[in-house]
Amino acid sequence: MAKVSRRLVLGGGSALLVGAGLDGPAHAAPMRGRQTADVCVIGAGYAGLAAAYRLKQAGAKVIVLEARNRVGGRSLTAQMKGGGWVDYGGQWVGPTQDRFYALIKEMGGETYASPDFGKAVQRDLINPKEFIRLGSEVTDTYPGSDMMDAMFTAVDDLAKAIDPEKPWVHPDAAALDRMTFAEWLRANVSNENVRGLAGNLVASVACASPEEISILQMAYLVRACNGLDKLFASDGGAQQDRLIGGTQPIAQKVAQKLGSAIRLGAPVRKIKWSDKGAVVFSDEISVAARHVVVCVPPHLAGAIEYDPSPPSDRVQVTQRWPQGLVVKVQMVYAEPYWREAGLNGASLDYQAVVGETADSGVPEQYSKKGIMTGFIYSEQARKTASLAPAERQKMVLAEMAERFGPKALNPLEYHEMNWSTQQWTRGCFTGFLTPGATTMFRSAVRDPVGPLYWAGTETSTVWPSFIDGAIRSGELAAGQIKAKG
Ligand SMILES: Cc1cc2nc3c(=O)[nH]c(=O)nc-3n(C[C@H](O)[C@H](O)[C@H](O)COP(=O)(O)OP(=O)(O)OC[C@H]3O[C@@H](n4cnc5c(N)ncnc54)[C@H](O)[C@@H]3O)c2cc1C
Repeated sequence: MAKVSRRLVLGGGSALLVGAGLDGPAHAAPMRGRQTADVCVIGAGYAGLAAAYRLKQAGAKVIVLEARNRVGGRSLTAQMKGGGWVDYGGQWVGPTQDRFYALIKEMGGETYASPDFGKAVQRDLINPKEFIRLGSEVTDTYPGSDMMDAMFTAVDDLAKAIDPEKPWVHPDAAALDRMTFAEWLRANVSNENVRGLAGNLVASVACASPEEISILQMAYLVRACNGLDKLFASDGGAQQDRLIGGTQPIAQKVAQKLGSAIRLGAPVRKIKWSDKGAVVFSDEISVAARHVVVCVPPHLAGAIEYDPSPPSDRVQVTQRWPQGLVVKVQMVYAEPYWREAGLNGASLDYQAVVGETADSGVPEQYSKKGIMTGFIYSEQARKTASLAPAERQKMVLAEMAERFGPKALNPLEYHEMNWSTQQWTRGCFTGFLTPGATTMFRSAVRDPVGPLYWAGTETSTVWPSFIDGAIRSGELAAGQIKAKG
């Protein structure tokens, strides 16, 4: 949590309260000594919670070991004093993310339509000194939109030809996996600004720069998320809805149903396994179980000690699975002033530090404050990481003022969250396979090894990198274990 210091978060001038105490002390004390269970689940993000909950419903004895002192993983909600909430991690849900909607309903949660009270702002592709205003209709045209449309169509067409279960069987898989998305853009898109905007949009899926992800992995992600419209549209796409109360409370409700099965503050260091089962070691507790579901990001799964070692493909693939990089910025204002100007708070800028923004306001009955979210993606996050926080904040607010007017300069609150410095995440939104790794390691990314199952959003072939994908991966592992009896 970069600049969201404990002082700021827990009081002392801030209106935000992280978790609002819902993580609760009930399961906070790790039990000591050796425990036994049918299944040991590692990680209490959405994947681990979904796996554990479905297994518990099927009558299995489950123990969940979670490194942090809270559940939710990359879902973390700060409740605002006086009403409203801010999601520092995942916040949106949209059509075809059926498993997330189902879990929200099952836990008694509610969604609301993301605020959309005007036009979006985008840096002009032809005259980069100007910003243009865009309606939400996909038929909107603007200078350079023909080039953007052609780029979108080419990516979508390639994505449609990919089997999300087996991207490596595409006839040109090897060549496409060798070619970075940046190379593909240079070969297929003549306009530099269109390449810049396309790179920004790509960044918003995996938070990889176009130079570090292959066009095969990129097209796979697009295919697994049902195409670019489903990914990027606010109405009908992945940003369509938000959750009343934020995303973390749903994870907390699942955790409440699991009760004392969850052990917080229990980082898993080592797994000793054989075909008969495994013993999972944390600092103060070890769990002997018939099956283990590892629900942590792949690079962290690779950092656990295994005895004996998994096959070399599994060991190697976790070394080619970095997390992306994005800093999520939250600015809280007395009111959503941009709406008065006919703007919906959405913006895209392929030259600026803040690549994208969104109005993250909550329904008025909870709070009338203006909540603006900004994303500093990959290259820009790297470039600005060394700046003093105050300098970066000044830069961000100046960019907001350029897009939305001078009121942007005076937020009541300003917070940044950099997940790359969080020990138990180390980057976001998600991980991605580096060029060559998809064709080299194929299904090693998710093939079970003896009693060990690999879940987590990165392993899902439907909505990978989203909460929906995390839930699906956990439910899939639970189903595989149930099928074994
Ligand atoms: C800034 C940001 C914005 C996002 N926006 C959206 C969005 O709008 N919509 C959406 O659907 N998704 C979004 N995502 C992605 C979404 O949050 C993730 O895909 C999802 O939460 C991942 O869930 P998971 O269970 O797979 O992994 P995680 O949430 O990472 O859970 C893994 C858990 O394992 C724990 N752990 C790690 N190592 C160990 C260990 N050795 N021992 C024990 N425990 C361990 C971690 O503490 C963590 O709790 C966003 C993510 C971020 C960070």
